[in-house]
Amino acid sequence: MAAKLRLEGKVAVITGGASGIGEAAARLFAAQGANVVIADIQDTLGRSVSASISPPGSCTYIHCDVREELQVAAAVALAVDIYGRIDVMFSNAGIVGSLAGVVDLELADLDAVLAVNLRGTAAAIKHAGRAMVAAGTGGSIICTASVAAVQAGYGPAAYCVTKHAVHGLMKAAAGELGEKGVRVNCVSPFGVATPLMCGGVGMSPEDVEKVSCEAAVLKGAVLRTGDVAAAALFLASDESAFISGHNLVVDGATTVVGTSLGFALQNHLA
Ligand code: NAD
Repeated sequence: MAAKLRLEGKVAVITGGASGIGEAAARLFAAQGANVVIADIQDTLGRSVSASISPPGSCTYIHCDVREELQVAAAVALAVDIYGRIDVMFSNAGIVGSLAGVVDLELADLDAVLAVNLRGTAAAIKHAGRAMVAAGTGGSIICTASVAAVQAGYGPAAYCVTKHAVHGLMKAAAGELGEKGVRVNCVSPFGVATPLMCGGVGMSPEDVEKVSCEAAVLKGAVLRTGDVAAAALFLASDESAFISGHNLVVDGATTVVGTSLGFALQNHLA
C-alpha cells in the first residue's frame, strides 16, 4: 500500500508562489497531495508555474497583490470555491525595498516595504484565519519572515523592520487563533539565491550561494529554495500538529552563533 502523502486532502494558498521559495513550496505541497492556489502579481510566470505543477489540476493561479486586502480575500475565497476548503496559508510574498540606512530612509519607502511584507501578511492571516475559523476544521498559517527578523545586519533597515514585525504579528495571531485550533508559525530563511536576493544585491545565483555558504556557520550544505519549502511543508502538515507560535529558523545555526569573540580569537590564534 502506498504511504500517505504528507498534505493529502489539504488545500493551500501560497502568496508569492510564482517564484523562488513560494514556487518551490507550491511544487512540493502539490507533490505531497495538496491542492494549491498560487497568489502573485507575476501573472505570466504564475500561470506557467501553475500549469507545470503535477499532478495536473492540482494548482490554480490567481492575480493577487497582497497590498490589496480584497485581492487576498479573493485568493482565499477561490481556494474554497475550487477545492472546497483552506487548510494552509503560506504567506510568503515579500520584497526587499529601499536599501537606504535609517538616517537616509524616505518614510514613503518604508511604507512601501511595510505594505507588502507586513500589511500583506496581516491580510493573509486575517482572511485565511477567518475562513479556517468559520469552517471549524483548524488550519496552519505559515509566514515567511527571515533571519532579518532575528538579528539586524541581514538586510536593509526597512526590510529588517518589516520582518521583525512579521515575527511579532505571527506571535499575536498564534495567541488569538490558537483557541480556534489554527496554528500560526514563521519560517525564517538565511540567504537563498532567488530573484529577490540576487536582484537585491546585484549578484548571480552562483555568487549568492558562494557568499551565503561562506557566511553560514553550518558547512557542507548549500541553502536552496527546496530546503525552505521543506521547512514550510513540516509546518503545514499534521507532523507539526502541536507547534504554534514558533519561528523555524533555517540558517545552519548562524543567528545563534553569530560572530562571537570566541571565533575571532580562534581565527587570531590559528
Ligand atoms: P522571489 O522574488 O523569488 O519571490 C517573491 C515573490 O513574491 C515573487 O513571485 C513576487 O512576484 C511576489 N510578490 C512581490 N510583491 C508582491 C505583492 N505585492 N503581491 C503578491 N506577490 C508579490 O523571492 P524569495 O526569496 O523566494 O522571497 C520569498 C520570501 O522569502 C520573501 O518574503 C522574502 O522576504 C523571504 N526571504 C528570502 C530570503 C532569500 O535569501 N531569498 C531570505 C529570507 C527571507
